[in-house]
Amino acid sequence: MTKPVRLVIFGRQGAGKGTQCVKLVEHYGAVHISTGDMLRAAVEEGTEFGRKANEFMSAGQLVPDEVIIGVVRDRLAQEDVRAKGFLLDGFPRTEPQAQALAATIGEDGFDLAVNIEVPLDVVKDRIAGRNRGDDAPEAVERRLADYEAKTVPAVRWFSGIGKLVEVDGVGAEDEVFDRVRTVIDTHL
Ligand code: ADP
Repeated sequence: MTKPVRLVIFGRQGAGKGTQCVKLVEHYGAVHISTGDMLRAAVEEGTEFGRKANEFMSAGQLVPDEVIIGVVRDRLAQEDVRAKGFLLDGFPRTEPQAQALAATIGEDGFDLAVNIEVPLDVVKDRIAGRNRGDDAPEAVERRLADYEAKTVPAVRWFSGIGKLVEVDGVGAEDEVFDRVRTVIDTHL
């Protein structure tokens, strides 16, 4: 078996991050840790935690750092993740979350952060053309603005420790996947 990969994937809303993550976990056999999926599952189950998280999510806001950090920390400690590696999707989304990740697993606890870069005007066109329940125009604008204000500093943080690679996310899904796979294989 090949060595487990430990990756962080960034991409603003509409960048195709979700699609690429599905292909990547299949290709590398890593555990997909999607904080959006984990939060939606908690909302669906109707747990107290899910109800709290939903107050933020339905308003198009990020859930508080301390809440999501604990959830991710617990998930990273599980045996399947240790054995197969991981692909973090949707976390970290703020600089404090990036620092918390490094405090938990160390700066050598992951291999690489990949930023799937698609310009703002292109993602706005893409989002306008799809039909998702959480795509109300104000909510989309708010999440995109949040991404610039809060998540771009997290992306820069990875750049600062020399672990960020940028991939052009404009193009067909398979083309983008080939680019992402190539940069990962080159850097590992
Ligand atoms: P999107 O990329 O469209 O925002 P996600 O599925 O990644 O979708 O996340 C859905 C929602 O879950 C976010 O809008 C946010 O409210 C919450 N969320 C997910 N990940 C995080 C995180 N790391 N920190 C804070 N909130 C998060």
